[in-house]
Amino acid sequence: MAQIKFCLNCERRNVATDAVCVFCGLPLENAPAFEAPDLAPPKLAVNDRTLQIPLQVELVIGRADPAREWMPDIDLLPFGGTSAAGVSRRHARLVWYGHWQIEDLDSANGTLLDRQRIEPHKPHDLRPGAIIQIGKLYLVYYG
Ligand SMILES: [Zn+2]
Repeated sequence: MAQIKFCLNCERRNVATDAVCVFCGLPLENAPAFEAPDLAPPKLAVNDRTLQIPLQVELVIGRADPAREWMPDIDLLPFGGTSAAGVSRRHARLVWYGHWQIEDLDSANGTLLDRQRIEPHKPHDLRPGAIIQIGKLYLVYYG
């Protein structure tokens, strides 16, 4: 088991061993903590290729924009995730809550989970076998 802490400032989740919030930089000493299974990166495949995913409690999915020096945690550009394919720079995010959840970040073309459009900024549980549609790309979550 691992401990997760809610940042009181930005309400995002951090691993409890961090002294400050990795998202907003505020100290986490007074933040409420809860137990969660140990963090493991989500297993995701796109175009039959498994993505390499960093070990973080929050992962932004989108497309890199070198001109703006923007690089999401999970970059779909190498897989055809262009603007023309309907992929936003900050399209959706995965958040660890003892299990992985997905949230649309108010993207231009929306995010579909198992063929259903999800409301922006509302987290949804991911179950193994779930299909996430981001623009014209299909991502398979397998645990
Ligand atoms: Zn914070």
